[in-house]
Amino acid sequence: MEHRFINKRFWKDSSTAMSSSYALARQFDDVINLSLGDPDLITDSRITKAAMEDALNGHTKYTDFRGDPELRAAIREYYRDGLGLEIRDEEICVAVAVMAMNLALQACINDGDEVIIPAPYYTQYPQQVELARGVPVILDTFEDEDFQINMERLESLITEKTKAIIINTPNNPTGNCFTEETMRGIADMAKKHDLIVISDEIYTLYCFERPFMSMLHVEGMKERTIVINSYSKDYTMTGWRVGQIIAPDFIIDVIRQISEKLIFTLPSVSQRAALHALKNRKAIQPPMREEYKSRVFYAAERINKIPNMSVLNPKGTFYLFFNIKKTGLTSAEVSDKILREAHVLTLPGSAFGACGEGYIRMCCTVGIDKLEEAFNRIEKMDIFR
Ligand code: PLP
Repeated sequence: MEHRFINKRFWKDSSTAMSSSYALARQFDDVINLSLGDPDLITDSRITKAAMEDALNGHTKYTDFRGDPELRAAIREYYRDGLGLEIRDEEICVAVAVMAMNLALQACINDGDEVIIPAPYYTQYPQQVELARGVPVILDTFEDEDFQINMERLESLITEKTKAIIINTPNNPTGNCFTEETMRGIADMAKKHDLIVISDEIYTLYCFERPFMSMLHVEGMKERTIVINSYSKDYTMTGWRVGQIIAPDFIIDVIRQISEKLIFTLPSVSQRAALHALKNRKAIQPPMREEYKSRVFYAAERINKIPNMSVLNPKGTFYLFFNIKKTGLTSAEVSDKILREAHVLTLPGSAFGACGEGYIRMCCTVGIDKLEEAFNRIEKMDIFR
């Protein structure tokens, strides 16, 4: 809003497509909402009960500035045992979920530094870069290239001002995973041009074709990689707002200082929940992963049977980014029609960057029975017959 009391940087409305979807979902009584990546499964009761017990036993106070030491120890154990990576305690800072990105950017970006963001991207990235006073530079990726990064195109965007590249694999919104070749290509480019890789690794659980690969698995990348993790999706804990940053110790030290100014210390009970999530992960995660995997494969099969719609074989996450170019309509028009005619709420691909035009993002955050109902309604629409 333009007002003299408001900082001019915020005069332009920066609401994302996600914030308007709550209002759209209320338009009809029977809307099936496939627009938000908030898993329908609630946090496993083993996590919630143990966190509540800890709260009753006194974990209600400020914690260490880099996070609860027990949680940090569990994070190290998870990295060692789960991912085969050795992380030192000084390389960890617990964070308030997505705020991790802001901390990472603030710690590294000078005013006007450029940050490359592959598109289609998580809707918040460009504005997160701007919030940290950086300049987002968009790198398009394409379905016929499996949404992988083309290294020549990447290199053509690198200038004297380029400081970092943000990557996100498994990816929201495409549901794609980078191949090992892509990961190595990005790493080589980062080394060649002395860039930081900010690797948003919040969907590690949902990698369907091969085991999850972190940027930290690539040799020589630990010294220039900032990993962002969150418990939101991997443990269906979106409301607890907890995650962590893994980075070289000198970067973590700055992140700790910024975090201290913003939030002082992290929410104690949420950190206990994260601790219990990690401790119980081997029991909790496999059924969750199977549930979401079976939904995306079911939805992909239905999509590929409907005329004028197609989607790549699912590789990760619980999102599907399906192609609707044959309808001859824009993704906003199609998404709007799907809402009005089928009462199914999705998001237009254009919300995830210009190269998302021609696609619709669907979140498989309802059970197969609801997905079935959604597709039964969608396939009756004129544009899909
Ligand atoms: N990064 C990506 C790629 C996401 O898809 C999301 C949420 O959908 C987030 C970050 C933020 O997640 P949270 O703040 O819940 O950890």
